[in-house]
Amino acid sequence: MEIASDRLIQEVNIPMQDGFGRKIDYLRISVTDRCNFRCQYCMSEKMTFMPKSELLTLEEITLIAERFIGHGIRKIRLTGGEPLVRRDMKDVIQRLGRKVESGDLKELTLTTNGSLLSEYADHLAAHHVQRINVSMDTLDPRRFAEITRGADVNVVLAGIEAAKSAGIRVKINMVALRDFNESDLVPMAQYCARNGHDLTIIETMPLGDVGADRALAHISADEFLKPLSNCYSITPIPHRSAGPARYASVEPLGLKLGMITPLSNNFCDDCNRLRLTTDGKIFMCLGHNAHVDLRSAVRNNGIPAVDQLLRQALKLKPRQHDFNAQLDGSAEILERHMNVTGG
Ligand code: SAM
Ligand code: SF4
Repeated sequence: MEIASDRLIQEVNIPMQDGFGRKIDYLRISVTDRCNFRCQYCMSEKMTFMPKSELLTLEEITLIAERFIGHGIRKIRLTGGEPLVRRDMKDVIQRLGRKVESGDLKELTLTTNGSLLSEYADHLAAHHVQRINVSMDTLDPRRFAEITRGADVNVVLAGIEAAKSAGIRVKINMVALRDFNESDLVPMAQYCARNGHDLTIIETMPLGDVGADRALAHISADEFLKPLSNCYSITPIPHRSAGPARYASVEPLGLKLGMITPLSNNFCDDCNRLRLTTDGKIFMCLGHNAHVDLRSAVRNNGIPAVDQLLRQALKLKPRQHDFNAQLDGSAEILERHMNVTGG
């Protein structure tokens, strides 16, 4: 059965390139839009989630991912919402982990809020997840509870420790928020250096109505880094990962610092990714609405039906996002929240 389906994929042979000649080999999968946190820049307090009937089943997610791997996807990141709150995620991790073992997939990773890592760390490590991103915007328990609307930073720190003990490399994602966590950067950088984690700063992106003015919270990475550059020397380094971050080394801390700067320094020329949403849509850009809908195609005609839609999706990829225009009010803010397409 598997051999027949592999042969079919070879016959279909989709060139994984978009209309601008960019090679597309990275798939981000939002496995759920649900989350046990309510980070202020990501969701509104009274967030409504999709009805469960609209979500892809985990079997459908895995089959679509495997089909895409057959067409040349080499890296997969599981995200959400909070990927680890979806029940039975262990099966998905195990099945996609097998693709890493067989060499069909170069890397399987995860972006998580860390709250359930203590429970999942050993399973992730056993199934070839070697690196994960954990989001943590401050180490200060009071400010952490404020930004997440109620979560406990100590639970996240314990989860990170469990991941490290299981042999998983951890990168901390810290969203830069004006007048909120500028003073948290130096302690965060010191914590990361002490524990051997990398650190990435992310500029806020205007996605979905969160009940607050996006422009007020926005701060460029350069400005956000000032307290760190007052204490340490920050030197750009040529290192590149599969993602959009640019890197610097922070000395004498010995810290590798990533910067994701969608607004202050556009990185779309190198974009190599597509995104599968929890309800089965393929978005080719976090900042655009163009998409194809795989769910009904898969349900009506089976997994091979995704091939034609994947071809279409590749043609839909825009040259770049419009976040700056959305932030300054000259373009409409997208209704879709970050948890739907996954960060
Ligand atoms: N729940 C997981 C987590 O928080 O890591 C995975 C999903 S979350 C949407 C993925 C990443 O997107 C996180 O690092 C989060 O901080 C970031 N994020 C969420 N909303 C954002 C926004 N509006 N602008 C920039 N980053 C955002
Ligand atoms: Fe949940 Fe992640 Fe969004 Fe925070 S950023 S609300 S943890 S999905």
